[in-house]
Amino acid sequence: MAKHEVSRRGFLSAAAAVAGATALPWKASAASLGLQQRGGRGPMPDRIELLAEPFPLKQVRLLDSPFLEAAQVNDAYLQSLPAERLVHMFRVTSGLPSSAQPLGGWESPTTELRGHFTGHYLSSVGLRYSMTGEDAVKQQGDAIVSDLAACQKANRNGYVSAFPEEFFDRLANDKAVWAPFYTLHKIMAGCLDMYTHCGNQEALAVAEGMADWVGHWCKGMGDDQMQRVMRTEFGGLAESLWNLGAITGNYGYTATARRFEKTTFLDPLAAHRDQLKGLHVNTHIPQVIGAAREYELTGNPRYHEIAHYFWHEVVGERSYAPGGTSNGEGWDTDPGQLGHALSRSSQECCCGYNMLKLTRHLFTWTADPRYFDYYERTLWNSRLGTQHPGDSGKMYYFPLQTGWWKYFSSKTNSFWCCDGTGAEEFSKFGDSIYFRSANAVFVNLFIPSEVRWPEKGLTLRQETRFPDEEGTTLRITAAQPLEMALNLRIPSWTAAGGSASVNGQKLEAFSNPGSYLTIRRTWKSGDVVSLKLPMALRAEPLKGDDTQQAPMYGPLVLAARLGSDGLSTAMQYDVDTGGTQVAPRGRPEGLAAIALQPGETGQEAAWIKKGQGLSFQTTGQAAATELVPLHQILGERYAVYWQMNRPAPGFRRG
Ligand SMILES: [Zn+2]
Repeated sequence: MAKHEVSRRGFLSAAAAVAGATALPWKASAASLGLQQRGGRGPMPDRIELLAEPFPLKQVRLLDSPFLEAAQVNDAYLQSLPAERLVHMFRVTSGLPSSAQPLGGWESPTTELRGHFTGHYLSSVGLRYSMTGEDAVKQQGDAIVSDLAACQKANRNGYVSAFPEEFFDRLANDKAVWAPFYTLHKIMAGCLDMYTHCGNQEALAVAEGMADWVGHWCKGMGDDQMQRVMRTEFGGLAESLWNLGAITGNYGYTATARRFEKTTFLDPLAAHRDQLKGLHVNTHIPQVIGAAREYELTGNPRYHEIAHYFWHEVVGERSYAPGGTSNGEGWDTDPGQLGHALSRSSQECCCGYNMLKLTRHLFTWTADPRYFDYYERTLWNSRLGTQHPGDSGKMYYFPLQTGWWKYFSSKTNSFWCCDGTGAEEFSKFGDSIYFRSANAVFVNLFIPSEVRWPEKGLTLRQETRFPDEEGTTLRITAAQPLEMALNLRIPSWTAAGGSASVNGQKLEAFSNPGSYLTIRRTWKSGDVVSLKLPMALRAEPLKGDDTQQAPMYGPLVLAARLGSDGLSTAMQYDVDTGGTQVAPRGRPEGLAAIALQPGETGQEAAWIKKGQGLSFQTTGQAAATELVPLHQILGERYAVYWQMNRPAPGFRRG
């Protein structure tokens, strides 16, 4: 989260986005849910053809897996937060009585970002309601929405926030203020998610009131002044305004969305120029998500180019092996040059969250399975392991410099941006496993789950212990025989020997890694499809420096276990009271270096051998080091990138 504008190094902390588009139906949102339109207008349909769309979240259920466990830990945390504490500063700001105990960290009564987490909370509650159908979750969200509506009524002008309007005066007058539009965006997105997932009409009305207020505020600003305003982080406000326009059919909201186009950032992208160096990362990814949504709703190719070019540049040139991006919250190098960009503060977690969100958009435009190579890698390595499995604390940075450790938020004294995006991420693991087109299902992730397609009378149940099991099994239930294509993603990491079988009979054909295996037939109840996806070891060089390499097995980054000497519990958690801190203190310890044999590049990963299950060890070195999947590392120092030391010319191992 950038404190004030793009000062590159002094970034105090975190940032991020919404749940908006992940959740909003892709074509005719409100209509497809049977919800009433306001003002008699119809929803605004997409202007582009989507080649795949996600199943509504409520039609997907997670089965036993690390993802379900993590979702439940997150659930318990969400339910432990009292609604009255989450709305306390909103009520105080609107002059309404509240005797609740204020929250701490970035939600404290004196923090300029206060209120942001309440928005994330509403998004998370909406997503969880869709995923579980549990009423208790929904009621908590409904109660908060009612309070926000009461605050809005008291303010009389549509404004709803946990800080006063004076913050926006500071913004207009080029005075320092943290990120007021960023915060407003979270709240608006939270309300939209409560409407979309829970059918909460009051939430839509609150979002519309807020959008009216934003529109009015912007009308008083000239274009140059708006460009200056956008030097302060404003999150995915444009995306939410586009979504609101799509739901309501109100073009006023999309006109306001267009005021939030930061030309110094978007114009170079439209021209395919990487001018990202020096920018704060998570300030900008949500702007591209807004551009993606604009492309969908207008068909304007400029916004396709922006989103497409940006995604490929960030993933191809500015991302680490686990899938994350950013160092010290910024892009601080030339493209493809990450040699000096490993630190304690690599990979802000919000960036992974937002890149996954953007990836979903690009996938629906093309149905290209390679987008899910990135999605899967980032989900497993940069998202799943960023929540403490015991108490749901979330990570802010994901240190990639050797010898650091995972560091987690406190329950009520952190409320970092990454707590907010984390709460959303862990609420919606079902949103990207399956997609569909008119007569096909796409299976993109290997996560135990069930998807229902009532219009087709189809239920697809996926059973797997992936990645412990190198493959998956799909069981079909069909109300009547159903002719349909099943598109099974064959990941780019698939090693030799992959195969598929239907009802125990091995298919003669298979597909290349990085493509779909399409099985088109008349499906009936009891059909079983099995997929064998062998994994292999390899090591990926850091972009721009092949002497530093990250070992991988299938989609999993393997982390070296460097022990927990001197690592106290206090060093792994943010404090419960007082000032919050977003990164571990102390110093990195431990080495991860490999002596290569003559002729080796390291990338063959001949220096690692596999043991039982997903345990690994270095081999041929002075001492053996254990490796485990990065998402499992907890409570100890680790290394992701190893230093490859080539033998001197003429060296011979004795
Ligand atoms: Zn963050």
